Amino acid sequence: MNSNELNRRQFLTTAAIAATTAAVPTTVLPAHSAGKARWTGKLALLGGEPIRKGKSWPSWPYWDDKVLEAVIKTTKSGIWCRIQSASGTVPTFEKEFAALIGAKYCVATGSGTQALHTCVEALGIGAGDEVITSPYTDPGTIASILSARALPVLADLDPESYQLDPADVERRITENTRAIMPVHMMGQPVNMDAIMAIARKHNLFVIEDAAQAHLAEYNGKKLGTIGTLGCFSFQSSKTIACGEGGAIVGDDEALMDRCYTVHNHGTNRRGRTEVIGPKYRMNEFEAAVLLGQMSGVLERFQRRNENAAHLTSRLKGCPGIVPQKLYPGTASGSFYLYAMSYRKEHFGGVDRSRFLKAVEAEGVSLSPYIERGLHREPWVDFVVESKVYQKMFGEKRLKQYREEMQCPNCDRVCQEMVMIWASGPLLGTKEDMDDIADAILKVYENRDQLRAA
Ligand SMILES: *Cc1c(COP(=O)(O)O)cnc(C)c1O
Repeated sequence: MNSNELNRRQFLTTAAIAATTAAVPTTVLPAHSAGKARWTGKLALLGGEPIRKGKSWPSWPYWDDKVLEAVIKTTKSGIWCRIQSASGTVPTFEKEFAALIGAKYCVATGSGTQALHTCVEALGIGAGDEVITSPYTDPGTIASILSARALPVLADLDPESYQLDPADVERRITENTRAIMPVHMMGQPVNMDAIMAIARKHNLFVIEDAAQAHLAEYNGKKLGTIGTLGCFSFQSSKTIACGEGGAIVGDDEALMDRCYTVHNHGTNRRGRTEVIGPKYRMNEFEAAVLLGQMSGVLERFQRRNENAAHLTSRLKGCPGIVPQKLYPGTASGSFYLYAMSYRKEHFGGVDRSRFLKAVEAEGVSLSPYIERGLHREPWVDFVVESKVYQKMFGEKRLKQYREEMQCPNCDRVCQEMVMIWASGPLLGTKEDMDDIADAILKVYENRDQLRAA
C-alpha cells in the first residue's frame, strides 16, 4: 500500500499552492491554513479562542446492535463456557480470527497477558531461562515471563521507532536465552527482519507481542504470524475489544495443541491432564462481543490508517513534532495509538507538560503515555532479591542483571512521547484530524507566547 506516498505528494502539491498565497506566513507549512490563519493569535491557554470546541470524539469501546444481539443470543443459549459446545462463540471466534490474521490456528484466552504466558509455558521456557523483551510496554509483557519463573531481560529501544533495537537485543543474549519477545508498540511493526535473523542465528523462539497490533502488516504478513507464535489482547482499549480477552495464533498444529492444553489447566482436547498449566479459557460472552464486531473491523482499521496518514502529512514540516518512525516493509499499522516525539529544542525549550496543557486548552487531548520504562519499576529489585530467583540464577548473574538494567533510549522516549489514544479518536472525520493537527501547529507557531508567559 502506498498511501503515505500519496499523502506526501498531496501535501507537496497543496504546500506549493499555499506558498503562492501571499496571505500565508512563510513559516506556516500546511495548506489547510491557507486563508484561514487559524493558528495566529492568542493561545487558548492564555485566553484565546480554542481550535476545537463542543465537539466529541467517536467513543470507545465500539458497540452496536450486532454486539448486543450476540450477547443476548449467548445468554439465552445457556452455552456460557467454551467446553460446552464445539460450535459456541469461542471456537467460532478462534476460526474467524485465525482467518482474519492469516494463521492456521488460534487459541483464545482471558487476556493478552494470559496468551503470552501460555506461549512461554508451551515452549517449555521456565526456571533458569531468559527471555529478551522491551522495557517500553504494558506490564503484562514481563508478567508473562515472570509467571513462568523465567527472567525478563530488557533491551533498549530505537528512540525514533520506540521499538526494540535489534543490535541491543543481540548484545544481551546469554547461554540461558531461549526466546525474544518483540513488542509491536503502538501497533506498528518491530524491525522483524532483523529480529528473525538474530533468532535464527542463535536458535531462539520468537513470541510476538502483537497486543496492540491487530491487522498491521509487514512485508506481506500480518503481525503475529512472523515469529514462532503471536499474541493479541482484546482488553477494552485495544482496537478489537471485549473488556478482557486475548488470543494466540500460530501455524504449528502440535505447538498450538500444546497451547490449548496449557491454557486448559494442563488438560488436552481429549480430556487427559498431562502438563502444568493455569486455567486461562476465554468465556462465551467475551467471544460473543468479539464476533458481534467482526464485520466492521476491517473498515475501522482502514479508517484509522487513512486518518493517520492524513495527520502525518499535516504534521510534516513541523520540526518539533516527529511522528513514530516506521521500518521499511511496514504496509499498515493498527494505530492503537498515534505516537509522536516532542522535540523541546524546536519549541524554544518549552517543557512537554506545558505543551500538553496548551494543546489541551485548544480542545485536543494528548497523553505522555508510559511515564517510565519497566527497567525503572520496583519489580527489578523484587526479582533480584527473591530467594527463588537467587536459587535459579545465582548471585553473579543477578548482580550483572541489575547493573545492566539500563535503557537510556527508553528514558528519552518516555520524556519525549506525546500520543493520541487512537482506537476512538482516529475513527473520526478528516475534520477531526485537522483539529488535532491545527491545535498542535497553532501551539508550535505561537510557542513564543508560552515562553514569555
Ligand atoms: C495490552 C497489552 C498487553 C497485555 O494485554 P492484556 O489483555 O491487558 O493482558 C501486553 N502487551 C502490550 C504491548 C499491551 O499493549
